[in-house]
Amino acid sequence: MKIRTNFVSNSSSSSFVCEVCGEAYGGWDATPEGANMCECVHDHVMCTQHLIDKFEDSIEHYIRSLPLEELRQLIIEEYGRFLGSSLEEIQQADNADTLIRILQKRMPYFYESSIPARFCPICKLESISDGMLLKFILRDHLQIERNVLEQMLRGQYKSSEEFWNRKS
Ligand SMILES: [Zn+2]
Ligand SMILES: [Zn+2]
Repeated sequence: MKIRTNFVSNSSSSSFVCEVCGEAYGGWDATPEGANMCECVHDHVMCTQHLIDKFEDSIEHYIRSLPLEELRQLIIEEYGRFLGSSLEEIQQADNADTLIRILQKRMPYFYESSIPARFCPICKLESISDGMLLKFILRDHLQIERNVLEQMLRGQYKSSEEFWNRKS
């Protein structure tokens, strides 16, 4: 989570690309919310329509609907690493309002810019990028050194343009 600094910079153009379908949205002072895009706690950016379980309400609304212990669990699991010294308060709080107040104090924008991982199709591997698939092949399924592959590629193509323009 980047706590919006990535998204809202003064008078500058920003753009977001959905990591699931590739749709791009940009413009002067564009925000992911304006583009119907959102970001998960692990910085994946995507159209809200791809979220698991048709998660359409605000995070705050969702969070308020959880029973106390489930809420505490979610906060610790998903937001724990952002909470620092407040983590202890989270563990001790005895009602939902206190939990939410602590969360809001430490992460004022949590409900608009950090969707829990359980709703993110990328975190949950429902959507796998070409980059991840390639890394998987190279790292786990191909007993060949990366630099050998790079040499082969250079031997076959003269430029990246030639590579990408090849009809497959
Ligand atoms: Zn998309
Ligand atoms: Zn994610």
